[in-house]
Amino acid sequence: MAIATISPVTGEVLERFDELTPEELEDKLARAAAAAASYRLTTPEQRAGWVEHAAAHLEKETDSVARLLTTEMGKTLRAAREEVVKCVRGLRFYAAEAPAFLRDRPGDGPGVGARQTYVTYQPLGVVLAVMPWNFPLWQAMRFAAPALMAGNVGLLKHASNVPRTALYMEQLFRDAGFPDDVFQTLLISSGRVEQVLRDERLAAATLTGSEPAGRSVAAIAGDEIKKVVLELGGSDPFIVMPSTDLERATDAAVRARCLNNGQSCINGKRFFVHADVAEAFIGMFVAKMGALVVGDPMDDGTDVGPLATESGRRDVEAYVEDAVSKGATVLVGGERPDRPGWFYPPTVLTDISPDMNMFHEEVFGPVAQVWTVSSLEEALRIANGHPYGLGSNLWSEDEAERALFVRDVQSGMAFINGNTTSYPEIPFGGVKRSGYGRELSDLGMREFMNAKTVWIGENADGTS
Ligand code: NAP
Repeated sequence: MAIATISPVTGEVLERFDELTPEELEDKLARAAAAAASYRLTTPEQRAGWVEHAAAHLEKETDSVARLLTTEMGKTLRAAREEVVKCVRGLRFYAAEAPAFLRDRPGDGPGVGARQTYVTYQPLGVVLAVMPWNFPLWQAMRFAAPALMAGNVGLLKHASNVPRTALYMEQLFRDAGFPDDVFQTLLISSGRVEQVLRDERLAAATLTGSEPAGRSVAAIAGDEIKKVVLELGGSDPFIVMPSTDLERATDAAVRARCLNNGQSCINGKRFFVHADVAEAFIGMFVAKMGALVVGDPMDDGTDVGPLATESGRRDVEAYVEDAVSKGATVLVGGERPDRPGWFYPPTVLTDISPDMNMFHEEVFGPVAQVWTVSSLEEALRIANGHPYGLGSNLWSEDEAERALFVRDVQSGMAFINGNTTSYPEIPFGGVKRSGYGRELSDLGMREFMNAKTVWIGENADGTS
């Protein structure tokens, strides 16, 4: 895929970028390795100072950075502003909390025959982040903030359609005063990720993206025996039980499916509604989906902008056409509008069956699948039949249902009476084919650290 900024609103190529030459890539790897050798010796307090500066810079530039995100991938300007604000919050969280996460953890020395034992957390070195375009700043930031606070050096291979955002990230950390080459952007195609992964100067990698990309990176990292974290696709269940408030649940369902123009890894994509409230829920959901304003993402009145890429819209259309040809019913949407750009309307489908591709895969656009179920157990049985296990949602006022949901839903995150959201303060990640490892919180930071066990015995003369 060519590295270029292409307007999803018009399809116009706004700027093309040259890939790094082999010599430029080698230079960047050498610089990263050199930076890692000295950066690991900086103190958590020094790093926190630079991260704070990055937060302050970004905060000042909120509006221009938000416009950059909207231009490159079509999210509404309102959503882009929220993304920038979240990045500022993420940076500040790690600046404030990471020094405590990095403290040595004392152990029971005498219990293991030592005068003293403890675990000390040390950086791994150079870490590669392969990132997607859907939250182009936040996805990269939630790697960068903990990685840099941990004393690692970051290399960012961003998605090919968000090069301006990728270059902005490098600039931001440079302007914040980080030592040279501690965070670099690599403008390379995905075909060259293997070379970087296999390079002996690279310690570890994290990939957020699709299942095929994850499989490829995991296989190479496995072959090289390098640590890797994978944040892959999701098709989150959103289960609605009779005790819930339907106004609240339908508002949340619309937000879940249309957030980021329907291109979020988390949040409900499959809606399981108890039969007692199905008719009412579906009526309200369809009306609210149909009332959303689809249009230019720069306009304040727009609810849903275009999909980010032409191929992304083709994929969404193909999922809907396949489902309809096999018996799905379209309650609203389902037709691409007659206008330039990669728009697709909020769409609701019912009568979903296992022979349809969307039953087992992920639809990355504003398309909701609705099932009517007779019990929570039935909802969980269908939900858990999916290969992905990223987030999950239950809407219920019933304690016993909540407990059953938390116990039995196969997902990395279980949200009750609220939409799945990433917060710097709590862990984020999936199970099954949604990947492995965790981002955010202290857990995310420790993924790329050597938890080194230290055991110190008595001196020869018995003194300590
Ligand atoms: P993608 O096509 O997999 O691309 C993601 C990144 O991986 C891009 O930088 C891409 O580079 C690179 N890439 C693609 N194929 C690769 C390969 N074989 N080897 C190495 N790198 C490769 O995914 P996307 O379309 O950008 O993003 C949508 C997917 O990401 C969805 O499935 C979504 O659910 C998932 N996602 C997951 C999370 C999470 O936290 N779990 C968050 C956001 C998105 P190029 O652009 O150059 O191809």
